[in-house]
Amino acid sequence: MTIVATRHPLREGARLSVRGVVQGVGFRPFVHRLANRYHLAGWVRNASGDVQIHVEGRPVDLAKFLQHLSTDAPPLARIDELHSEACAPANLTAFTILESRSDGGRQPVSPDVALCAACERELFDGSNRRHRFPFITCTDCGPRFTVIESMPYDRERTSMRAFTQCDACQREYRTPGDRRYHSETNSCPVCGPKLWLEPATNRPPLEATAQLLLEGKIVAIRGLGGFHLAVDATNDRAVARLRARKEREAKPFAVMVRTLAEAQALGTVGDVEAALLSSRERPIVLLRKRPGSVLADWVAPALDTVGVMLAYTPVQHLLLDLVRRPLVMTSGNRSDEPIAIGNDDAKAQLAMIADSFLLHDREIVARYDDSVVRVAGAAPIFLRRARGYAPLPLRLPIASPKPLIAVGPHLKNTFTLVHGTEAYISQHVGDLENLETLEAWQTAFAAYRTLFRLEPEVAVRDLHPGYMSTRIAGDLGLERIIPVQHHHAHVAAVLAEHGIRQRVIGISFDGTGYGDDGNVWGAEFFEADLASYRRVGQLRYARMPGGDLAAREPWRAALGYLALDPDAAHAFGAMLDAVHYNVRNVAVQQMARRLNAPLASSMGRLFDAAGAVLGVSLANQFEGQTAMQLESLAGSRRAQPLPFPMIRTCDSWMLDPLPLLIALGELRNGGADVADLAARFHESVAAGADQLAAQLAAGAGLTTIVLSGGCFQNARLAVSLKARLEARGLRVLIPRQLSPNDGAVSFGQAAVAAARLSREITP
Ligand code: ZN
Ligand code: ZN
Ligand code: FE
Repeated sequence: MTIVATRHPLREGARLSVRGVVQGVGFRPFVHRLANRYHLAGWVRNASGDVQIHVEGRPVDLAKFLQHLSTDAPPLARIDELHSEACAPANLTAFTILESRSDGGRQPVSPDVALCAACERELFDGSNRRHRFPFITCTDCGPRFTVIESMPYDRERTSMRAFTQCDACQREYRTPGDRRYHSETNSCPVCGPKLWLEPATNRPPLEATAQLLLEGKIVAIRGLGGFHLAVDATNDRAVARLRARKEREAKPFAVMVRTLAEAQALGTVGDVEAALLSSRERPIVLLRKRPGSVLADWVAPALDTVGVMLAYTPVQHLLLDLVRRPLVMTSGNRSDEPIAIGNDDAKAQLAMIADSFLLHDREIVARYDDSVVRVAGAAPIFLRRARGYAPLPLRLPIASPKPLIAVGPHLKNTFTLVHGTEAYISQHVGDLENLETLEAWQTAFAAYRTLFRLEPEVAVRDLHPGYMSTRIAGDLGLERIIPVQHHHAHVAAVLAEHGIRQRVIGISFDGTGYGDDGNVWGAEFFEADLASYRRVGQLRYARMPGGDLAAREPWRAALGYLALDPDAAHAFGAMLDAVHYNVRNVAVQQMARRLNAPLASSMGRLFDAAGAVLGVSLANQFEGQTAMQLESLAGSRRAQPLPFPMIRTCDSWMLDPLPLLIALGELRNGGADVADLAARFHESVAAGADQLAAQLAAGAGLTTIVLSGGCFQNARLAVSLKARLEARGLRVLIPRQLSPNDGAVSFGQAAVAAARLSREITP
């Protein structure tokens, strides 16, 4: 926070401007209370870019007011800047909240916030007028981003404007000191949104929903930022039915419970996990499964982790209180499509999946998936950043001279809008592979432009000529388009979140990204800063027969490595036997003829190859499945690395995985424990990367290493490599504010473009 004050101390009047997350978080009521405490007259109002305050009174009181303004701000507020200027008093006699003023400024918008403890108490208090009211909120909690259409934050610019407050609610809204004083989402059973079940039964909607769930039925539930599909998480047949209907064979489902104690019964909850679970952001937290828990096997098959979140809306609290067991709460969408938000959309989209629909009539302005985190090295790592976190901005270390839009990558897309150093990173949008997601992208982009009053002049995109994101960037019709290499964007995202402008050794371990040489990259060692990079190391290239199919069928990656040295076939025998000869032969032919068999340097594919050689997996039903299963098998058992040598090429280095894969295959043939080998594989990758990174750092005289890319969602790999590098005295930066995966790529693209544009202006 920076405090910029004029030289003269406050005398009798002061004019303040406060910037940051200061609207929709109970900030004006707080200012009002504070002014009253120090007997100051004046006013406060929301503007588009800041909160403006005028106060007047005794100088000593003004000073105290100013001091406590930043130290006592409400919990959800985040003050970034506070400007104060002395002014002449206007002889006001009272302190008031003025009407908002729309003046073209820009400011952060608060994310949605989980139900607060005070509202939770009232929800279950039989004497309270909001007893069991499914839309209870106050200035400390409830929807924000998902109801706000534009700023400044007032009810008339939210989807709550459809509900006119009744007299009782009005009274709270106007009473200084009330928890709902100026609460823009305020409502009650008389005047607020309604909940209903379709098809209707003769019971109240929540009781009826609970009964359906207990009977094993699937209910689509409209929530804050879209629909969930809910089912009894202890009922194997019900969960299997949801999988069949959603055509989602294996990808794990998240589970919701009401209390920390219930979460502890499902998985291991350390201090960091506990803090995350009960935080106001309420993300899904990956927990190590507790053996013998009540969870159905089909919730997260073949994995040792399960995603758990605590209830965050009043509807969820009421429902879980009725069913008294964990519920699967998975995104309400058809596979690969965006989450449904409208009642009619959902009924059409989910007609073949859900048995019933629990609906409400508060329109959802923004699509908002649940965020997902896991703990690695005693701190959280994002797997998906959306609800509770977006659209809070991050700062770029180098300001962009022009407003820009970084359209993001192909998969796990987010986009980033930039003005100066402010970078507004969108919530998770999804994989840009169909028209529905493209439309979701465009809707979200339009919403951000309005919310943050940003008109980009420059578009930033991935290098890949064929991606839908590349077309999106072109269609924006802006004066300039800057292409950025995928893994440079990965490294730059981590540099930018840590505010680093210096050159570093950047490691990117990833699935796929388009390389400068037209090959598939994804296990890269760069000497890089924000503006530029040089590729100084990589994984040895191998052909991936079938192209994109290789990401879904891990044996293809193994076959690609085997083609580097046919003498290695003895070690791969078990795997080769598992694939039909004809299918295998087509793949071999593809490689021989270099037909749809691109060269790849990809850590994702190396994990696949190892999984295939170890017989862990022959098919990926979702991205990264083999790698997740290997990590699950490895657990935390100690293991020695196998050989993963680095080889000098003419002007750079490469890691050769062939000896590693052969060793794994031979040990497996010799009857070694597969879980043990999975652990040894992890340590081999960590040790190999450590050795090469250390060598490159020493050669370039650099001491900072950046870890980026989707493979570092693997906690074992991230923790082991970080520890090895740190043991050498190197400084290691890993992604903490954004995900290691492609969710951070748009922010990285933005950071690179900003650095390049600013270099053009001041060379
Ligand atoms: Zn509340
Ligand atoms: Zn009311
Ligand atoms: Fe990536």
